[in-house]
Amino acid sequence: MAYKWPQLAIEGGPKAKKHPYHKGNRYGKAELKEVAEALESGRLSSLNGTKVRQMREDFAALVGAKHCTAVTSGTAAVHVALGAVGIRPGDEVITSPATDFGSLTGILYQNAIPVFADLDPHTYTMHPAAIEAAVTRKTAAIVVVHLGGNPADMDAIRRIARKHRLALIEDCAQAFLARWRGRCVGTLGDVGCFSLNSAKHISTGEGGLVVSNDAAIADRCESFADKFYSREKGRRLAGLYDIPQLAPGYRMTELEGAVAVAQIRKLPAIVKHYERIGDGYGEGLAGIPGIAPHGVLPRARPTWYFYMFRLDGKLMGVSRDEFRKVLWAEGVRAYAGYIPAPVYRWKLLRERSVYPGSKCPFDCKHARKGITYPVGLCPEAERILADGIILEVNRFFTATDVREAVAGVRKVAAHFLAKKGIALGPAN
Ligand SMILES: *Cc1c(COP(=O)(O)O)cnc(C)c1O
Repeated sequence: MAYKWPQLAIEGGPKAKKHPYHKGNRYGKAELKEVAEALESGRLSSLNGTKVRQMREDFAALVGAKHCTAVTSGTAAVHVALGAVGIRPGDEVITSPATDFGSLTGILYQNAIPVFADLDPHTYTMHPAAIEAAVTRKTAAIVVVHLGGNPADMDAIRRIARKHRLALIEDCAQAFLARWRGRCVGTLGDVGCFSLNSAKHISTGEGGLVVSNDAAIADRCESFADKFYSREKGRRLAGLYDIPQLAPGYRMTELEGAVAVAQIRKLPAIVKHYERIGDGYGEGLAGIPGIAPHGVLPRARPTWYFYMFRLDGKLMGVSRDEFRKVLWAEGVRAYAGYIPAPVYRWKLLRERSVYPGSKCPFDCKHARKGITYPVGLCPEAERILADGIILEVNRFFTATDVREAVAGVRKVAAHFLAKKGIALGPAN
């Protein structure tokens, strides 16, 4: 006999999510102690304090990098990485159409031009063939985004970068300790960038980290984050007065460094928990007709910043937004897609209007002419953003939260599938 599902919550039935999501404060005594020490030392600048220095060493060791620079945000981290690899005006940088705009800010600030590579329909990361197809004589770098903490195909992408002599920058803002062939992302290219904003695996409120195994790049990261000052002893004055090029001031303070010291100590345990939650969603959603799980490449170990499944609205006979609404009514924290539209359709790029009153960098004499961002530029990304539903992953969620969220998705799916004559039982 077929399993009889209860009535939908949106129609007055019982909610699939019977218990409220577990909550908590991600900061505690450990952070307090570190911050107190920073204040008591009387030194809140990283130039003479110890917290940022210690944190940089701890983080580099944890991800397996030789060097780490601390900055004010993930956006700053990507900007610093681009500056450190020597991006010039008119250069093209290949990146993802589905990312935080922070992946692009630094590209545009350097008067370089973002070019987009379409996504793999299962992993939502840049497809190597699309990257290769986007390479022109002006391409200087790739900013690969490990969206949702899910590593992109780094074997293929490294090969493309090497073949075309492109700098390879990893945007790991969502991918703390995610691994490719057992190595942490951020250490697979030339530079890796992380964000410490309040939504990420660990946080200092705002903050960013840049890692590298290349001493020359790491050195330029340090200068580029600091107005291109060179603060090595003995070169102090020359370094201060003879700035070789324009660079922003992105130094992190000791207060953030102190919080980061404590947060980085917790990171391995936090990441394990994220892995259990994301894997739990993946197992729970397997085998539901009309639902495509979040794909993972065989060599990738994601750390699940979020979990996004794709809905086959035609098969289910329901729109993505309606499905999400019904799921939300079941008490499940689910969101319609990652961003409403690919970043190339956001006003700034759609209208090629980056700086007020000019078309820089698009009409720069160094730029390749005719780069535009029409609808249909990355059709797979457009489809993913139109039919994806995100399940939240959070350090405080319990096994019950995961089980009940999965039960909610199955219940809503079963409801719509039943109308199409397809029976679906509950999860085991
Ligand atoms: C969060 C994020 C950024 C930007 O980080 P901020 O700290 O908010 O500046 C950049 N790229 C990706 C993929 C992100 O998720």
